[in-house]
This record gives sequence, structure tokens and C-alpha cells, in this order.
Amino acid sequence: MITLPVYSPVEPVLYPVFAEKQLRVFIKRDDLIHPYISGNKWRKLKYTLRRAEQEQKRHLVTFGGAWSNHLVATACAAAKFGFKSTGFVRGEEIQNLALTLCRIFGMQLIFTSRESYRDKQALFNQHFGNDSQGFFIDEGGAGPDAVKGCAELADELATDFDHVFCACGTGTTAAGLWNGLHLRGRSHTLHLVPVLKEGERLPGTIQHQLTGKFDGHIHPGYHFGGYAKCPPSLAAFIMDFGAATGILLDPVYTGKLVYAVADMAVKNQFKPHQKLLIIHSGGLTGIAGKLNDFSFNLIS
Ligand SMILES: *Cc1c(COP(=O)(O)O)cnc(C)c1O
Repeated sequence: MITLPVYSPVEPVLYPVFAEKQLRVFIKRDDLIHPYISGNKWRKLKYTLRRAEQEQKRHLVTFGGAWSNHLVATACAAAKFGFKSTGFVRGEEIQNLALTLCRIFGMQLIFTSRESYRDKQALFNQHFGNDSQGFFIDEGGAGPDAVKGCAELADELATDFDHVFCACGTGTTAAGLWNGLHLRGRSHTLHLVPVLKEGERLPGTIQHQLTGKFDGHIHPGYHFGGYAKCPPSLAAFIMDFGAATGILLDPVYTGKLVYAVADMAVKNQFKPHQKLLIIHSGGLTGIAGKLNDFSFNLIS
């Protein structure tokens, strides 16, 4: 059976900005689900892997950038549940922590020019069209199975949060979470923080995956210059937050997410005594891609 025990406690966040504004802020530690099948990546893979098993496909083929948390998660999950795995990596061959982890977990890596990377189905057909075991998993694990897995997060939440915050890449996780809350009749307000520049387009791009009309809030102003950009203000925030709470945020997703919540708190966008929940979607290998951005000491 393809399953993992989901260990994801909800912890209070004791951070001065939130205390000053008399907010009760909590964080859901999906980053603790698994060290490598981390955060939303297990939720996104769960039903995808079960479908592969049902269809008796033993070779997972997927796609990602050189720092893709999805590639690492797929490589590890494949090894754990007895699949072979191949990852198409966007761009020229390089070595880094994420790709080394992929290799350690037995994933075959195929570096692919940015141009041919655009047509993933063509790449799959070209390399594995004759492989009866081949199972296509889209970039980031996106798809209906992923949305279904992410909806289960809603089952694990107390009912009394006023606001729930989620980082968005493709928005698949957010779509699942919105559906989960909606189907369970929850009244929390869902806030999405896109980490890509084109984030304001997000509700539109995920609407077809939703079980109703999106009624959350989108905060497109926290991308810090675009995907995987980590200017000093973001690095400084991650360091300050880490030093104050013992919780590690990644620079690509959760750092921007928690920065956004703290910034909105400073700007009095929540009422005193409201209860806020931040989803920590994992991704901590991202730190290794930004080591130089954390090379200064914070002076307090
Ligand atoms: C992949 C990832 C996301 C983005 O998830 P989407 O479903 O693509 O929006 C968010 N946070 C972390 C840590 C991730 O690794």
C-alpha cells in the first residue's frame, strides 16, 4: 500500500510582530511529513502514485527545474514504494544538492534544453513512448490527483481559524486546499501568496480545478522579483524568523509566505485576537541554492 503516516502538527508561532498585533498565529508543519517527500509534495504524489500502481506502471517519469522539490520527492517516493524513476531537468547539466539527492534515490536524470523542455508530453513520447511501464507525471506533480490529495489537508485543521495562508507555485496545492475547505463547509478565508511574478493571474488559472467559485484573497505583491529570487530583505526576514522561532523557512516559497503574513499584520490587515494559520509546505533544500544570500549576520 502506498502510504505515509502524516505527521504535521499545528504549532503556535511566537513572533514579536504577531504578539504586538495581538494575533494568534499558528503554523501547520507539513514540512515535517518527510525529510525528502516534504510538505505538499507527499499530498500531491499520494493519489498519483496509487494510480500508477493501479495501472501497473512501475516507472515514474517527471519534470522539474534544477532545484525542484518535486523531483527530489518523486525520486525518494519512487525508491520507497518500489518504482523506477526518471527526471527531465530543465537546462544544462549542473550538480547541486537537489539533483544529488535525486541521484542517491536512484533517479535517472536527463538534462533537457529549455526549448525541448516546453513540450513535456513530446519528451515523454520520444524517450519512453515504447516503455509499457512508463508513467507520466507533470511538472510539480500537477493534476487532478494532486488536487485531491491536497484537499485532505482540510481534514486536519481545527474549525476556528479566521485566515489560512498558502504559498503558490502552480496553485495546485491551493486549489486542493480551497476544495477541501469548501466541501467541508469551512468558513476560513483562504489567502494565496504567489511566488511567481504573474501571480495575479492565479485564481483564473486554477478556477477549472475548483468545486465552486474562488472566494479567497490573492496577494501578488510578495514575489520579491520573481521565482527563486531572494533579495537581502527576504534573507534577513528568514534569518530573523528562524532566530525568533526555531522554524526554518525556505527562500523560494515559505519565506515569502510568512513574510507576507507578517507584513499584512504590520499593516493592520487583521483584527486583534484573530486566529491565523500558515501552511508550511516544506521545501528546505531550497536554502542550499541560496547559500550566498545568507552570508551576512543580522545585527540586533
Ligand atoms: C512545490 C512547492 C510549492 C508550490 O506548490 P504548488 O502546488 O505548485 O502551488 C509550495 N511550497 C513548497 C515548499 C514547494 O516545494
